[in-house]
Amino acid sequence: MPAVGLVYDPIYLEHDTGHHPENAIRLQAVTGHLEESGLMARLRSVAARDATVDELAYIHESDYIDSVRWAAGRGGVWLDADTFVSPRSYDAALRAAGGGLAAVDAVLAGEVESAFCLVRPPGHHAMPARAMGFCLFNNIAIAVEYARRSHGLRRVAVVDFDVHHGNGTQAAFYADPDVLYFSTHEYPFYPGTGHWREMGQGAGLGTTINVPLPAGTGDGIFAHIWKDLLTPALRRFEPQMLLASAGYDGHFADPLAGMALSCASFGEQVAGLRDLARELCGGRLLLTLEGGYDFTALAWSIGASLEVLLDEQPTPDPLGRRDSPPPVGIDDLLSVIAGTHGLDRV
Ligand SMILES: [Zn+2]
Repeated sequence: MPAVGLVYDPIYLEHDTGHHPENAIRLQAVTGHLEESGLMARLRSVAARDATVDELAYIHESDYIDSVRWAAGRGGVWLDADTFVSPRSYDAALRAAGGGLAAVDAVLAGEVESAFCLVRPPGHHAMPARAMGFCLFNNIAIAVEYARRSHGLRRVAVVDFDVHHGNGTQAAFYADPDVLYFSTHEYPFYPGTGHWREMGQGAGLGTTINVPLPAGTGDGIFAHIWKDLLTPALRRFEPQMLLASAGYDGHFADPLAGMALSCASFGEQVAGLRDLARELCGGRLLLTLEGGYDFTALAWSIGASLEVLLDEQPTPDPLGRRDSPPPVGIDDLLSVIAGTHGLDRV
């Protein structure tokens, strides 16, 4: 059985958002499920640490970092229309980012094959100088930079299967040829970015791959995308480590989005990432939690993700699959994306 790390710290519950879809109950639902199912006992705990201000500054401007700390000191400030900072939010966010760094260390030291960071606040919408979409600091982008600067990795791939486009992560690496950013997301939808024509710029042209999908996209289309777009893209890029923005708000039960994915599909997506990581980069795989707002769907989807990382068969979930016909024109869209990126020739 491969060793699978879990990063979790109770401080993540102290980012107090009140009546907000991104709340502490999400993580309590997950840890409760992992305990009840016995999964927790098969995971290796990886202790989170605080990211330093210098590590946050890999991605974020120092004035912005100061402003988040200031907002927490003020005891409750909205940084944008849907992103709240409570008194403990700055400290929780430091440890959410640092949890990713501890996971990078554990994976690259070979202590675990893969690691899942059960953190909040989430990160993939956070921009260099701006909080956005429930996110304060961009946990995954900071982890990518840390893997490169502290461990000497050169090529790192990020797969973002959250239902929203990870605009912050895309922005961090848009001109960088050594970070592949591959995102599936509902489109058009929040935050408005992620058209397939957004492909990177300068030396980074081609290392951003966006797969914008209509509402109602379900399990079968994702299997197709993993096989015909993601697999050739990663084989061509040859990453030295694979990181994933693991958002589960594409589940059909999710209250914020309109996709038709099941918990089983998330298990299949993570199994695909596991297999590609083993084929291409010694199994080195790090997942960090982004969205997912239906507590049952979130808990069982993360359970399925961890089971496949442990090489187990996922336990059937209580929500099942939703039968959804493929959206009109989806095959043409995926063909255009494959052709534009030359993936049909890999
Ligand atoms: Zn999301």
